[in-house]
Amino acid sequence: MERWQHILKKSLKEADQISTVFDLENGKTDKVVAEYPAKINPYFTALIQKKDDPIYKQVVPDEREIYDDVGVDDPLNEEGDSPVPSIVHRYEDRALLMVTNQCAIYCRFCTRKRLAGKRPISRKMVRRGIDYIRDHEEIKDVILSGGDPLILKDKVLEEILEKVRDIPHIEIIRIGTRMPGALPQRITKNLCRMLKKYHPLYININFIHPREITREVTTACNRLADAGIPLGSQTVLLKGINDDLETIKELMQKLIAIRVKPYYLYQADLTRGTDHMRTSVECGLDILRGLQGHISGFAIPKFIIDLPGGGGKISLLPSDTVIEINEVEVIVKNYENKIYRYPQVTPIGNREPWK
Ligand SMILES: *Cc1c(COP(=O)(O)O)cnc(C)c1O
Ligand code: SF4
Repeated sequence: MERWQHILKKSLKEADQISTVFDLENGKTDKVVAEYPAKINPYFTALIQKKDDPIYKQVVPDEREIYDDVGVDDPLNEEGDSPVPSIVHRYEDRALLMVTNQCAIYCRFCTRKRLAGKRPISRKMVRRGIDYIRDHEEIKDVILSGGDPLILKDKVLEEILEKVRDIPHIEIIRIGTRMPGALPQRITKNLCRMLKKYHPLYININFIHPREITREVTTACNRLADAGIPLGSQTVLLKGINDDLETIKELMQKLIAIRVKPYYLYQADLTRGTDHMRTSVECGLDILRGLQGHISGFAIPKFIIDLPGGGGKISLLPSDTVIEINEVEVIVKNYENKIYRYPQVTPIGNREPWK
């Protein structure tokens, strides 16, 4: 067994263990964990400094998860776009391939709470998914997802990558993972040597809070980047965890320092069991406004709502950026709240110097 597997084996999973370690009422933890499994590995546990801190809240079960009248099990209607159980095919040219239901931690805010740690994804289901991709020539971009694909052993993951890479119409492969931040020891040199055989390969990593960017995480991301893999981040805004400008700014700056390009900042989905962590949309827009013009442009993610019911992702901008667009000019507000005018293209003959 590899070192990361030994660490994972010592994860807290049972309600009574978790209740003892975090001083909770076992009866309550038991009810939550029966509905939504918990897993807190020793590496991640060590990042917790105190009760209810931003790391604690991400992984320690909370009674409010089982009293949510707003959320639904499948808020993005993934089941509706799932031709075979391991595939979500919503956008014509891209498909998600779920390769496992296991993760290195179970995030309490997970969009796939209905699946993570619950509904197993068999090797056969994955093979059927790969067959579907092979049969659909319009798919150019395959996103390995789950669960966390990097929890698979190198050999199992490589079998999947080989088969997907073998399909002529597949241009890029992406992996969506939380592993570099949740259990960085998993990012071994061997893993990176294997992954780099399947380029063009991109990895998008889930990061929530700047305290996750540790020395071990820096090593893990540097290894992946040195294998030539472009790294992006995905961050969900969560109440009381990262829902303020300073926290997000610090996280984005730390990410670019470890060669991870901020990709998406998400409004939380309407997932059952997560309503107590949801922030207002204005909160995200205010954070975006606070970043624009104040940190490197490439440290700024897009702010995304993945629309309930399967409408797909849309990117939002603060609504007061563009004040007016008319035939003569575009009137906008810059990052210092000053108004500027940009002239439209004028027909030849009517032109005057711009002043
Ligand atoms: C998010 C998502 C993708 C990838 O979207 P990008 O904007 O290309 O990163 C693909 N398929 C599904 C179903 C998704 O939810
Ligand atoms: S690692 Fe990803 S899939 Fe797993 S529980 Fe966390 S958010 Fe969900």
